[in-house]
Amino acid sequence: MEKEKQTQSPKRRRLVLVPCPYQGHITPMLQLGSFLHTVGGFSITVAHTRFNSLDPSNFPHFQFVYLDDRISEHEAIPADLIAVLLDLNVNCRASFEDEMRKLIAAESEDSGEVVAGVIHDELMFFCEEIASDLKLRSFVLRTTSAAASFARMTLVRLNDEGFLPLKESILQDPIPKLHPLRFKDLPISLTTNFTKYSTLIKKMYNMKTPTAAKAIIWNTMEWLEDSTIAEIKNKSIVPIFPIGPLHRMVSARTSVLKEDFNCLSWLDKQAHDVVIYVAIGSIVSLSEKEFGEMAWGLANSQQPFLWVVQPGAIRGSEWIEALPKGFRESVGGRGCIVKWAPQKQVLAHKAVGGFWSHCGWNSTMESLSEGVPMLCSPCFGDQKVNARYLSYIWRVGIQLENGLEKEAIENGIRRLMVGEESREMRERTKNFKEKIEAYVHKVDQCSSSTYLKELVSLLYSF
Ligand code: UDP
Repeated sequence: MEKEKQTQSPKRRRLVLVPCPYQGHITPMLQLGSFLHTVGGFSITVAHTRFNSLDPSNFPHFQFVYLDDRISEHEAIPADLIAVLLDLNVNCRASFEDEMRKLIAAESEDSGEVVAGVIHDELMFFCEEIASDLKLRSFVLRTTSAAASFARMTLVRLNDEGFLPLKESILQDPIPKLHPLRFKDLPISLTTNFTKYSTLIKKMYNMKTPTAAKAIIWNTMEWLEDSTIAEIKNKSIVPIFPIGPLHRMVSARTSVLKEDFNCLSWLDKQAHDVVIYVAIGSIVSLSEKEFGEMAWGLANSQQPFLWVVQPGAIRGSEWIEALPKGFRESVGGRGCIVKWAPQKQVLAHKAVGGFWSHCGWNSTMESLSEGVPMLCSPCFGDQKVNARYLSYIWRVGIQLENGLEKEAIENGIRRLMVGEESREMRERTKNFKEKIEAYVHKVDQCSSSTYLKELVSLLYSF
């Protein structure tokens, strides 16, 4: 009788998503959740920290539960991001376990639902052990490029070979067996404490313990990173699903900050392909001097610009009080500054012809998807790897190699926006846009939609 009841109405499956609470990680996790809900038919619970929490009204079809992160807003503007990430993995454990037990208890009260598994950001690895204790499967979402992950994994070898801590004298040298990266492109700085960092790396890429995730979901494209993904697949004992770029598979309002849509009307008044869009990430901290160099580089380039300056990004200022004297007069109506932009719409706007970016992985894929070439100003971590690929391998970007310096910025913007080099780069970037479009929708063995379908089948198979 009981068996008959089950065959008549199979239980709906619920997935628990655990994003890392920074914009570049929240976005792909919620996009994945939206896809799995609308196309896969799963119910979704998002286990989010109180820090950087989202407006649940943007996701009426998701359930939200909160984790006790014990991270203050102050600590989360990360002077030491590695320490904050390690703390999150300790602090969130107890509340996550409580919330999971509540969900499982609700399931046994015959709610018509069963918890099918946990999908967590690669940086929220504490979930794996708890999921395993509760007899749930876990899956990891990687939100950086495969190349950046591979470079992180290689740091352990480089440390064993005596290359760490990095020395100024070898920064320009190529890394043995890691083409095309130079030591300066590694996701580590001269001052990183490698002992702490290696703890994080080992946990993030641990696939060999019984509690480890059962599959890796990757917001990247197999054709774009084919050799790196092949190498990672060779070493991986679990399946890998490269299902990116997620923003092309589903639309979802994932912004933590309020977007200023007025800048789209400003863009409407500009000619085609003339505006340089400037946004250097959601985790950024600039000195007044660097901010001044950016401002004069933009002003002197004579190019129209739309510039995102996040409140608090300039040390010692609330917003843009530190703009240099004479800058506004010099620029007039040629510039527009906002606190946060609807970036995907901006990049899709016909007026935008270049993107000056920190090369976060989401920004990189959003720019390539719209065929917009990039001026690359990586600040830290995976951004440096992405910038190297953009400028040296894919040749759709120009890298500012020596930090923020106004003459180099002015020159970089000119090269990106006008002349023969710019025309050729724009052509190449348009090719990327077409390839992405084709890859996302094609239905053969290695496209994002095929991998997503396989992932859904896997999630239903347990
Ligand atoms: N973003 C946005 N508005 C802005 C600046 C950024 O919506 O004004 C979004 C952008 O579209 C991207 C995310 O914030 O999806 C930033 O992620 P990314 O991986 O590029 O960089 P991170 O901020 O994590 O370093």
